[in-house]
Amino acid sequence: MDWKLEFDRKMSVFPEIKVLPDEPMKRHTSFRTGGPAARMAFPKTAGEFLLTLSCAPEYGPEPFVMGSGTNLLAPDAGLDRLVVNTREMRRLEPGPDPYTVCAGAGCSLRQAAEFACARGLTGLEFAHGIPGTVGGGVCMNAGAYDGEMSQVLSGALVLSDTDIDYLSADALELSYRHSIVMEQPRTYVLQALFRLRPGAPADIRAKMETLMERRKASQPLDFPSAGSTFKRPAGHYAGTLIEQCGLKGLRVGGAEVSEKHAGFVINRDGATSADILAVIDEVRKRVREQTGVELEPEVRILE
Ligand SMILES: Cc1cc2nc3c(=O)[nH]c(=O)nc-3n(C[C@H](O)[C@H](O)[C@H](O)COP(=O)(O)OP(=O)(O)OC[C@H]3O[C@@H](n4cnc5c(N)ncnc54)[C@H](O)[C@@H]3O)c2cc1C
Repeated sequence: MDWKLEFDRKMSVFPEIKVLPDEPMKRHTSFRTGGPAARMAFPKTAGEFLLTLSCAPEYGPEPFVMGSGTNLLAPDAGLDRLVVNTREMRRLEPGPDPYTVCAGAGCSLRQAAEFACARGLTGLEFAHGIPGTVGGGVCMNAGAYDGEMSQVLSGALVLSDTDIDYLSADALELSYRHSIVMEQPRTYVLQALFRLRPGAPADIRAKMETLMERRKASQPLDFPSAGSTFKRPAGHYAGTLIEQCGLKGLRVGGAEVSEKHAGFVINRDGATSADILAVIDEVRKRVREQTGVELEPEVRILE
């Protein structure tokens, strides 16, 4: 039996959970590329998330869980799988003590940082300008301007197969753009608990605004992208290496190495995912040939 028919049949019992057939990934990725996902579901709570996954037949393809799609390159041909979009899992509340904040996987990092600011809690300012969700941020150990998730995360509620466990930050094995969630199949973040410090809201806001100004000054925010395309190689900066190799402006179809920040591949003009991938491959090849450094994509490339 086709996994989609069985999934639809089971999900019809839960009409409160929105499911879209053949939903273009380009509507949900910051690159604005990617073909249709066979099914895209939008659970609003951890309970609906569990129900959705339990309706995906075992014999079908492994479901894919996404946040705001700000670090994803989805294939132009689309994905014959269930994509669970967590964007509506936005519950945000004070944690068990006054210095903690509890955030659903689909809260944006900006919402979480604003919530903390309003409660006079400092530590999440670095995350305010990162356009992803809390779940994506934990999975990627997102970071910027000397801050990263590992510094503020107390732990996360994680679903692994059918077990739900609260994993401490240590157990999540957070390191540079890496967590255990990335490694283990069928492992998903449902909620995160941040441990912060008391601070003056005016100072917190001022820091968030300063960091946003730095972003605007250095990053090509006028064009679709997924932020830094490559991880920082040991002892180097990817953007500097790419610029030194003369690759700013390198173009395939509508995709281009940004003139403003060589570490960003942008969708300049109607790019496909294939265009973006071709630029990524060419940049890696030329940087390898000219400097001997192997650039590793930070962007998650889906097949
Ligand atoms: C303009 C721009 C600037 C950026 N700046 C930064 C920056 O300064 N620092 C930085 O670190 N990143 C940056 N990024 C990249 C991106 O925002 C981060 O990697 C972010 O953490 C991705 O979150 P997301 O919700 O969009 O995840 P997605 O892109 O949707 O997914 C990324 C990965 O996380 C997984 N994932 C998502 N949610 C869950 C979940 N609930 N459970 C399990 N796995 C999950 C997905 O399966 C996928 O493997 C930038 C991107 C853009 C477009």
